[in-house]
Amino acid sequence: MGLVVQKFGGTSVANIEKIKNVANKAIREKNSGHDVLVVLSAMAGETNRLIDLAHSAADSPDEREYDSLISTGEQVTITLLSIVLNSMGYRSRSFLGFQIRILTDNAYKKARISLIDTDAIQKELRKGTIVVVAGFQGVDEDNNITTLGRGGSDTSAVALAAALNAERCDIYTDVDGVYTTDPNICAKARRLDKISYDEMLEMAMTGAKVLQPRSVEMAKKYDVPVYVKSTFSDEGGTLVTKEDQEMEREVLSGITYDRDQAKITVVHIPDKPGIAANLFMPLSERNISVDMIIQNASTQGYTDLTFTVSKKDMKEAQKIVEATAKEIGAKKVEVDDEVARISIIGVGMVSHSGVAAKMFKTMADESINIMMISTSEIKISCVIQRKYTELAVMVLHDAFHLEKKNK
Ligand code: ADP
Ligand code: ASP
Ligand code: MG
Repeated sequence: MGLVVQKFGGTSVANIEKIKNVANKAIREKNSGHDVLVVLSAMAGETNRLIDLAHSAADSPDEREYDSLISTGEQVTITLLSIVLNSMGYRSRSFLGFQIRILTDNAYKKARISLIDTDAIQKELRKGTIVVVAGFQGVDEDNNITTLGRGGSDTSAVALAAALNAERCDIYTDVDGVYTTDPNICAKARRLDKISYDEMLEMAMTGAKVLQPRSVEMAKKYDVPVYVKSTFSDEGGTLVTKEDQEMEREVLSGITYDRDQAKITVVHIPDKPGIAANLFMPLSERNISVDMIIQNASTQGYTDLTFTVSKKDMKEAQKIVEATAKEIGAKKVEVDDEVARISIIGVGMVSHSGVAAKMFKTMADESINIMMISTSEIKISCVIQRKYTELAVMVLHDAFHLEKKNK
């Protein structure tokens, strides 16, 4: 039998009792004959606590030190799990990113894994050890500790599963699978037995935080079967895998939301070639990602341009855009940080007409104003006022009959 990678999130390792439960899950897999590698997050709330500490020490903490600090939560959980496993008579060794060498680039807070040296792990696995690895962290070429972005332990787990050619990667969390929408805000959400990599990627990128987008990208690239399961029950589960015939019949697989959005409008810009480049180049230089963009048709030589950024980037983006707006002769810059993005996702959209119209009509019936729209082959997103987020999710879930299988 091959290797199984198990990843447990923050709520699954929130205290010693829960860590003992994780130990039992690892032992069960081991006793079934598999090699076992466990990837852990920090205890629930710990990474947030460390981030707050960093910001209480300085307004803009040095990035190298910041990543070293916020990666420490995982050292606590992996060592505790190994202590528990050893005390139960199972050999276990914990590893931090640099001890294995999970090599990343140097982009602090959002580093990308470039290479994993599997020697140390394989040596331990051959001895029958349950290997426990810290999620969320790596090391760059100059031995600086890096972190992989919030929710990055999912990516650590899938990357290790790919590098070690694991049979599967089990992501254990506080829900028992991937649902048609966040089960914590919509009671009618339905668990999906299977979802394609592409749909899962769109769901993750538009706000379903159950898997970090990069973990899905990586699972697709290396063909790793990913199972999302509950830490607290043996029921349920969702398989994230290649698209198949059965999946294609569904019009929508899910609805997602992202409350972490802000909208910036540059008003009355003299309409000339190069305006968009002038506005967006300085933002990309500061690593600020822009999501949706709308430029109005030009009237009498002037145009308006609206775009969204993540709420945490809004202040910085506003400063940069105000400076550019002055240079290019725009009238003013307006910001709105009370917005959210609602998205509907489904590969079936390609072959069904009227999906967009139904989405817009459903929101109109609830007097929810749509401020921006963007579409891709398998996704439609709308920006709305944030206070309508839950309502929009619920009425769309009903309108598309997601509580039942939809054809
Ligand atoms: P962990 O700490 O285990 O990594 P996360 O909080 O990162 O867990 O992800 C699990 C959470 O994702 C769930 O508690 C749920 O609220 C949220 N979520 C959002 N959308 C979905 C969805 N479509 N299906 C399942 N969970 C979702
Ligand atoms: N502990 C990290 C976070 O809170 C990584 C993770 O949970 O996946 O973002
Ligand atoms: Mg997570």
